[in-house]
Amino acid sequence: MNPTAFASDPVAAYLFVATMGAVTGSFLSMLVYRLPIILKRQWDRDCREALALPPPEKAETFNIAWPASHCPKCQAPLKIRDNIPLFGFLLLRGRCRHCAAPIPRQYFLIEALTTLAAIVSVAHFGLTPRGAAAFLLSAALIALTFIDMREQILPDVITLPFLWLGLLLNRGDLYASLGSAVLGAALAYLFLWLVFHAFRLATGKEGMGHGDFKLFALAGAWLGWQLLPLILLFASLAGALYGGALILTRRLTRATPMPFGPFLCAATWLALFYGWPLMALYLRSAHG
Ligand SMILES: [Zn+2]
Repeated sequence: MNPTAFASDPVAAYLFVATMGAVTGSFLSMLVYRLPIILKRQWDRDCREALALPPPEKAETFNIAWPASHCPKCQAPLKIRDNIPLFGFLLLRGRCRHCAAPIPRQYFLIEALTTLAAIVSVAHFGLTPRGAAAFLLSAALIALTFIDMREQILPDVITLPFLWLGLLLNRGDLYASLGSAVLGAALAYLFLWLVFHAFRLATGKEGMGHGDFKLFALAGAWLGWQLLPLILLFASLAGALYGGALILTRRLTRATPMPFGPFLCAATWLALFYGWPLMALYLRSAHG
C-alpha cells in the first residue's frame, strides 16, 4: 500500500494496519507461550551434554509451528474461526468450546496491545519505514514484556537480533544518528553492568539479569544515547511504583524478585514515540 492510497482512504488503510497488528499479535501470543518451552528443552539438552549425562527421552515434536493451536486443558484443536485474532477469543467468550476451561486472558491482551501498537506506529510515523520499524520494535517489546513476566527471562534470540537491527536501521538515521546509536548500545550495557556489580558487592544480591543489560543496549541502539537517562528514569519510577503498590497490598514481599524487563520495555516504547518531546519539555522547565 502506498502513502497516496493511505491519504485517499484512511479508514481502509487503518483497517489494513489493524489487521496486520492483530495477526502479528496472534503470532506473538503463541511465541510468548512456546519460546520459553523451546529454550528450556534446548538448555536441558545442552546441560546433559556438558555433564555427559544420557540425552533426555525423545519428547514429542514441539516448535513454533507444531503442534497446531489447541486448548491447554483438553488438548482439543482450535477451529479456524476460533483462531481469528481478537474475535476468536470474543466469540468463545474466553472459554474452550469443548471443555469450557478459561482461555488465558493474556492471549487476548497481547493481540489487543499489538493491534494498538500497529495503529499508534502508523498514526505517529505514517506508512513509512519509520512507522514499519516502530511497529516491529513494538512487537519485540510486547513479546519480551510477557515472556519476562511469565518466566523471568529475556531471550537472547529476541534481544540480540533487535539490537543489531537498531544499529543497521540507524545507518540511515532512522531514529538516531549512527554514532549516537553505537554509543547508546555500548553505554547502556556498560551502565547496567556497573550498577549490577555495584549492587551485588554492596548487598550480596543480584538485582537484575543480564537480559536487562541487553534490552537496555537494544534501546540505546534504536533511540541513541541521548534518550537513555529518560528511559531509565521512567522504567525505575514505574517499577518502584508498581513494586510499592504490590508490597502495600501485600501481594509481594521485599525479598520477592520482580522482573525489570517489562518496565524497561514500556519506557523504551514511550521514548520511541515521545522521547524527544518529553526531553524538550524537561529542558524547557529546567531552564525556567
Ligand atoms: Zn478445552
